[in-house]
Amino acid sequence: MAWRFALMIDPVAAQSPQADFTDTFTAVDPAAPALTVGELSTQRGDGIFESIGVVDGHAQEVTAHLDRLAHSAALCELPEPNLTQWRAAVLVAAAACGPGESVIKLILSRGVEHGPAPTAWVTAAEASDFSRARTEGVAVVTLDRGYPLDVPARAPWLLLGAKTLSYAVNMAALREARRRGADDAIFTTTDGFVLEAPTASLILRRGDTFVTPAPNAGILHGTTQLSLFEHLAARGFDVGYETVSASSLPQADAAWLVSSVRLAAPITAIDGASLAGDAALTASMNAYLLSPRD
Ligand code: PLP
Repeated sequence: MAWRFALMIDPVAAQSPQADFTDTFTAVDPAAPALTVGELSTQRGDGIFESIGVVDGHAQEVTAHLDRLAHSAALCELPEPNLTQWRAAVLVAAAACGPGESVIKLILSRGVEHGPAPTAWVTAAEASDFSRARTEGVAVVTLDRGYPLDVPARAPWLLLGAKTLSYAVNMAALREARRRGADDAIFTTTDGFVLEAPTASLILRRGDTFVTPAPNAGILHGTTQLSLFEHLAARGFDVGYETVSASSLPQADAAWLVSSVRLAAPITAIDGASLAGDAALTASMNAYLLSPRD
């Protein structure tokens, strides 16, 4: 039986000097109803979230996830989260995780319709098994995201750099990728540039240089990509952000989809054209990603 843990959070103001948050947390039965029908996260997807990988009870890169939660909240004009409180909630959830890989989710919703405050909660559960994707890799197709590269600056209300709860489009793209016989997708802009995958960042290798599409193109700044770039730079590789044209994808020496729970999945084919892999490098990346990271 899959295990799950859930903690409701009574959000305190970002600037509050409070240091002990015990009385703001309520552990709830994860199988029992916990949200009211007026909840705007379920009605409109109006909220933000984070998924944090946990290895043997250690929550990975918590600071990077909390920073992105705060960034998403600012873009969505949600009350600034108290990061000390959220960090304390992550620790409580991590203590509920057993050995092996788990996932902690942080959710901050605009709250109940006409209600006074946001709704916030944290869950923990066993992670999906990505061992096959990590070793055998994934075939991807490119899918048009439907807007040009410069749209984030022109239309900030699209909330493109925020990790919002509105993932229906991302899930539809994954279904379309599977209909086309692939495992995953890479979004491209209408003017031919590469963005990200529906639930992962893209990293390309050209010789000894690793690049990823620049986050100012309205994509999420991946915590896994950030951490991997730090690791690769320490190993002597060049790393950087680029505007990547879709037409340049076949010239990559290798490519990966990376995210907090999947870690690094090598891409074996893009739109049916095979891509060489580097099994030893991928294994070393995943060994790093599975080691305790802060
Ligand atoms: N891009 C999107 C759209 C995502 O949903 C995710 C993660 O779920 C990522 C990138 C990778 O982010 P991270 O490495 O922080 O998990």
